[in-house]
Amino acid sequence: MASEKSKNRIFRGIGASPGIVIGEARVADRNRVVVVETTVPAAEIASEIERFHDALRKAKEDLLSLKEQISRKRGTEHLYVIDTHLMILDDTMLTTETVSLIEQERINAEAALHRTLKKFKEFFEGIEDEYLRERGSDVETVVERVLRNMLGQRHEILCEAEGRVVIVAHDLSPSDILQIDKEKVVGFVTDLGGKTSHTAIVSRSLEIPAVVGLEKITGEVVDGDPIIVDGNKGLVVVNPDEETFRDYLQHKQYYEYREKEFLKLKDLPAETVDGQRIALKGNVEFIEEVPSIKKHGGEGIGLYRTEMLFLGRSTLPDEEEQFRTYAEIVRQMAPYPVTIRTLDVGGDKFVADLNLDDELNPALGLRAIRLSLRCPDLFKTQLRAILRASTFGTVRVFFPMISGVGEIRSAKILLEEAKQELRDASVPFDENMEIGIMIETPSAVIIADLLAREVDFFSVGTNDLIQYSLAIDRTNEHLSHLYEPLHPAVLRSLKIVADAAHNEGIYVSMCGEMAGEPNYLPILLGLGFDELSMNAVSIPKVKRILRRCSRSEAESLAQQALSFSTATEVDSYLQSQIVTRFSDSID
Ligand code: PEP
Ligand code: MG
Repeated sequence: MASEKSKNRIFRGIGASPGIVIGEARVADRNRVVVVETTVPAAEIASEIERFHDALRKAKEDLLSLKEQISRKRGTEHLYVIDTHLMILDDTMLTTETVSLIEQERINAEAALHRTLKKFKEFFEGIEDEYLRERGSDVETVVERVLRNMLGQRHEILCEAEGRVVIVAHDLSPSDILQIDKEKVVGFVTDLGGKTSHTAIVSRSLEIPAVVGLEKITGEVVDGDPIIVDGNKGLVVVNPDEETFRDYLQHKQYYEYREKEFLKLKDLPAETVDGQRIALKGNVEFIEEVPSIKKHGGEGIGLYRTEMLFLGRSTLPDEEEQFRTYAEIVRQMAPYPVTIRTLDVGGDKFVADLNLDDELNPALGLRAIRLSLRCPDLFKTQLRAILRASTFGTVRVFFPMISGVGEIRSAKILLEEAKQELRDASVPFDENMEIGIMIETPSAVIIADLLAREVDFFSVGTNDLIQYSLAIDRTNEHLSHLYEPLHPAVLRSLKIVADAAHNEGIYVSMCGEMAGEPNYLPILLGLGFDELSMNAVSIPKVKRILRRCSRSEAESLAQQALSFSTATEVDSYLQSQIVTRFSDSID
């Protein structure tokens, strides 16, 4: 039954996956297990423990069959999620703690398991690292599965959805999302999660609109409530009144019409009116995103974030697994190039098997290239896998978070060692594979001229460059108003980098989020960027503006933009230019 609460309640969260959908709320949390603690007579302790083990066994069987179902439906890409859950089921701490509570406290198995979960949750909640903290929800999902077995309840909350349903949940595990039927489930909204959460990543790759980080949405919605999910703006409207409903229906129709219109640009060249070509490429985390990059007309992959293959699992992918994944992406994208970034973990991305120490300032800590250089075997394994994949198409490799020339030289020595190992084993690879670096630290900007002598290309990671230049934590929602891509310091940095690259005869790309903002295109073109890499849906939007610009007008616009003192001034200048010159291109 729909809620009697007031109409038109608007909630603001984080737009994790773009698109607008209107559907009926289905609150997954309403089905959360309620556990009642009871005392178990001494004579029944053994059978209570047996009941717990039976439930564990059944959970394992269910997960194995789910794994099989998912691999048939969606391939093997996301199966590590199920593997993680299987490993949690095998965790001896979870089992021994629960069994000893049943024995010592003489409580029922459900209550014992629930208490164990509470302990685990407290442990995870105390962890500073956002990524690792979010993994606590994996334990919760697994424990719920076991609890339901003991209580004789079903799990397939999401499979049961009928009609056009928006799932409202405290949190969703990627395995929940992978089970859903895209025909029925049209959107997700969750209390928890940020842009790096698995929910966000998987929903983006499946192109299901989602808003996360809404904090208390599960307490505000009941099953059957009409609900609007605006993944573009990060807004959710519960019980929209007639006017809002009509407005959104129009927004949605317009959005979908625009998306279709944008797709018509797919095969048109990405060039200015005066014939200047810019390579527009896609950023991917998973192999499943490749078809979408192609559908939107991406001419290659400008950033493949390989760390996604390493996250959310307890063992590292070996050379074979990495090679197979990289080669498949390269094969699917051929003849266009795939730019593979070496491991960028540390900071807010956690890899269990690396046993990294807690750091006081993880963003300034042992991350990215620093970690790769510290673990040469890990790095060379990845480099060999990348090199081997280079025979399947055009591969370019680049290193994240470079802050000085020494790091590039060390990375190149290890790359040369990896090449020699392959030569010795007569394994083929592209001897001329291009090498690049990400420019995402202020030091890299300042010495861009020195760095340009060492590599074939630069790719500017504005997400980090802005964070480090302006000293604004990119994950802190309270500072988001200060996170300004148009800040004069950022624009000047971009100019220094582009000029340094061109003076040395190398090309310059951008793969941070700034590259996918259509309104910034004239500035980036005017500054001389040769290549821009972005999420799939932005590609035609950026192309549309590009095809209306001339190189010379973009150059004068960029020069003018560099003359202002604040981001606000640059922004209003840019808006006025966009309105007068490209008015029907604004989203
Ligand atoms: C960046 O920092 O801009 C970037 C593209 O890398 P990531 O977002 O993966 O840190
Ligand atoms: Mg970065």
